[in-house]
Amino acid sequence: MHDKIKSGTRRQIPAVNTLLESIGETDLPRPFIVDIIRRELKVERGRRKVSAPAIILQRIQDRIGALRRSRLQTVINGTGIVIHTNLGRAPLAPEAAEMLRQIASSYANLEQDLVTGTRGPRAGYVEQALSLLCRSEAATVVNNCAAALLLIVHHFTRQKPEIVISRGEMVQIGGGFRIGEILESAGASLREVGATNKTTIADYAKAIGPQAGFILKVHRSNFFMSGFVESPVPADLAALARKKRIPFIQDLGSGAMFDTRKEGLEEHEPTPAEAINEGTDLVCFSGDKLFGGPQAGIIAGKKRFVEALKREPLFRALRCDKLVLAALQTTADLHLTDSETKLPARALLRITKDELRGRAAAMLVRLRGLPLQITIGRGSGNVGGGSLPQSAIPSVTLDIVPEVSSIRDFAAKLRSFSPPIIAYIAGGAVKLDLRTIFPTQDDIVVDAIREASADATVTST
Ligand SMILES: *Cc1c(COP(=O)(O)O)cnc(C)c1O
Repeated sequence: MHDKIKSGTRRQIPAVNTLLESIGETDLPRPFIVDIIRRELKVERGRRKVSAPAIILQRIQDRIGALRRSRLQTVINGTGIVIHTNLGRAPLAPEAAEMLRQIASSYANLEQDLVTGTRGPRAGYVEQALSLLCRSEAATVVNNCAAALLLIVHHFTRQKPEIVISRGEMVQIGGGFRIGEILESAGASLREVGATNKTTIADYAKAIGPQAGFILKVHRSNFFMSGFVESPVPADLAALARKKRIPFIQDLGSGAMFDTRKEGLEEHEPTPAEAINEGTDLVCFSGDKLFGGPQAGIIAGKKRFVEALKREPLFRALRCDKLVLAALQTTADLHLTDSETKLPARALLRITKDELRGRAAAMLVRLRGLPLQITIGRGSGNVGGGSLPQSAIPSVTLDIVPEVSSIRDFAAKLRSFSPPIIAYIAGGAVKLDLRTIFPTQDDIVVDAIREASADATVTST
């Protein structure tokens, strides 16, 4: 089938326009296609032996395919991990998405006081809603929890540069970022106390000298320690900080607003309201983990501290835009009204195994007769996103063993479907956990499995 070009000459390299014509219309902007063609032709000109035009065209098509897949797009989450950082963390409530759409395409009273007709405070309503939820004197919001930490460190270590932190809490939060490095990049020095597994209140007391700016407790969100471990309870740290006249600040990470044990999870995730009730001066947490909102860093606590943070010039660099504030406002309202059903991140945790099993059985019926072994399996998804590392959520999976392709190829086929479906591989099967697949997506998943198995049959014969 291939053209017989033994030692092709440069003149045989197709022209840009010829290739553009062969490719035809695509859903990508034309300048992208032209750019890809030029790059591929440049590579081609550097080769000793010129490739056949069909090969060149295929390479260009592959590049276009890869570019198309790198575009931000919706995917179906078959991993069972509810807050999956790679997959964009918490899905927004439809109400929040609708609010986002409205605010995005219009003007808004972002910094306009509609009572006086003059300039007003940004995010005033959201801040009130957040402090109501956290039962704190005040609250505010910045770009993400890392930004919240940066702002806090920047402000509270200006005069006294040391942050007092347990060695057991020097957490790496994913993406290669470490809490310790974030703190140091803000110009602080770390006064590490205790040992990895044990830190006592006396260790803290000893470490607090005239250079101590504040005590920081970082919630161990993505791992747990058991065995010979000890750390003081937050109330004791709060009392110590008061005695030493420095603030006690907690990075809670995931920001659960409800008792996670009530949702059938084994662990209790400390809530901001609890932390504040125990005497924490300031807490920070992410908006897009268990809180179920957009990417944001929420700060709540003592009014004078929150006000001081808002006066920092750095605050201006970290502030949220109207889109984030729109989604956050509706999410906060939902927490104040009916979070159990309306917030997807929480609703997904509540789905019963029976319900999942019912859906799996219905899908199975529709997948009969394909060249696959498909069974209903057990999943142990988890909350993810650095929350509740100990709590596996019992779940239900479709376990697929393709007869004619490898499991890796089959998983790749599912990812190349539109919309892409993200499965995982375990126990020699491709697994799709139904907990994180919305019921409205079941039909799409069935179609994708059909198509992936049909492809496999074609390519193998
Ligand atoms: C996730 C996490 C962060 C980072 O939050 P972002 O909102 O992603 O910046 C910080 N601290 C802890 C303990 C976390 O779990």
